[in-house]
Amino acid sequence: MSCPLCPRHCAADRRLTLGFCQAPETPEVSTICRHTGEEPPLVGRNGICNVFFAHCNLQCVYCQNHLISHPGTDPDLIRYRSIPDIVDRIAEVLATTENMVGFVSPSHYAHHIPAIVEALHSRGLHPTVVYNTGGYDSVETLRQLEPYIDIYLPDYKYSDATLAAQLSHAADYPQRAAEALTEMYRQKGSALHVDDNGVAFGGIIVRHLVLPGAVDNSLHCLEWLADNLSTRLHISLMAQYFPPEELTATIPADSPLRRTLKSEEYRAIVEHFHALGFYNGWIQELTAAANYHPDFTRKEAF
Ligand code: SF4
Repeated sequence: MSCPLCPRHCAADRRLTLGFCQAPETPEVSTICRHTGEEPPLVGRNGICNVFFAHCNLQCVYCQNHLISHPGTDPDLIRYRSIPDIVDRIAEVLATTENMVGFVSPSHYAHHIPAIVEALHSRGLHPTVVYNTGGYDSVETLRQLEPYIDIYLPDYKYSDATLAAQLSHAADYPQRAAEALTEMYRQKGSALHVDDNGVAFGGIIVRHLVLPGAVDNSLHCLEWLADNLSTRLHISLMAQYFPPEELTATIPADSPLRRTLKSEEYRAIVEHFHALGFYNGWIQELTAAANYHPDFTRKEAF
């Protein structure tokens, strides 16, 4: 049976072979750890238990998690290969965090999420479940996940098909991500629900990583969200792009992706964010590029 999970539709029968994402049928997770670096309502005072799946259905050329997302992942970096092992470790980490689990880059393993959540429930654990995705998700998969997901945390990376093809091998990303976002919005609406301590328990946060040399791409992403979903949405504007040292050789010498973001580029996006009428969310400091360096060779990557 060819894998139906994501819009790539690469026709792989994952019981027999690997598709574009390089993910086998069985779950492969690199790291399950406490993370305090997400948006404030997702970490509260104690952080979130993040589950970092190995492999990815986008393979962005600038991926900060490339050690575990790109082809050729070191088998030693895959620490959990079964639902019971994943659930055991989540239970262990959850005891130290807010009652919240984040599935990071989950699109190619979305079919395992119901079993993981149900196993947690059977142990009496009922965490808020966050689906932290690159945004290249199929609507059908999202509909199947509806009973299991409390918070969608999608990227909206590209409005520009050429950029999406160059950087994530997915010229159809703008259209597919728009469909996915529309489905998430149908499920959750525009509000982000938080408890008395400011910790979220339902809704959507849309992330957008501003890329060097791609101001128009960012402007048009924000415009699509404002025109087609809502300016009430919580938007997380991210300036943390930095060129991963190990990937520099794969980025063309004249590409702006070899540098970090310029302040004037980011300022243009932030001004447009306000001009469009967005008023919920977070605007990362430009200095964030120096701060986000996960190390997946360690059990605690952050
Ligand atoms: S999840 Fe992986 S195997 Fe399935 S369609 Fe997407 S890229 Fe192909």
